[in-house]
Amino acid sequence: MSGGASSGDQSSLREAVAAELAAATARLAEPERQILELREHRRLSHAQIAGELELDDDAVAELIARARLELRARLRGSEPEADAGCAERRRALIALARRQDGELLAAGEDDWVREHMAGCPPCERAHAAMYEASACYRAATQP
Ligand SMILES: [Zn+2]
Repeated sequence: MSGGASSGDQSSLREAVAAELAAATARLAEPERQILELREHRRLSHAQIAGELELDDDAVAELIARARLELRARLRGSEPEADAGCAERRRALIALARRQDGELLAAGEDDWVREHMAGCPPCERAHAAMYEASACYRAATQP
């Protein structure tokens, strides 16, 4: 950015982003809305979320990934891409959520998911979509 925008422009932009986010999150299922609040707003670690929601670590990472994909689809007025066409979707989503959040991956998972994405366009798109959803959520809810 050039830095030319006035603070008034920035605050109305933030309001617009916040309104968009509120409309999109209102259409999410409760577990997805809840986990995005814990992760993107309160910035809890996956382990903290696992404790809070009484889920195991894989379930937390998968739900974060699916919630981000769902949010991104809602923001765009579309449906999240189905898992069809990827036999390793769950494994990939878990690894992608952990990478994105700086969480520890099981040995070999980082290399595996990079290679997997190179040959799996739906998972490569999911990777980008998850970052976009997270960035939007954080932009709208930062203090
Ligand atoms: Zn895949």
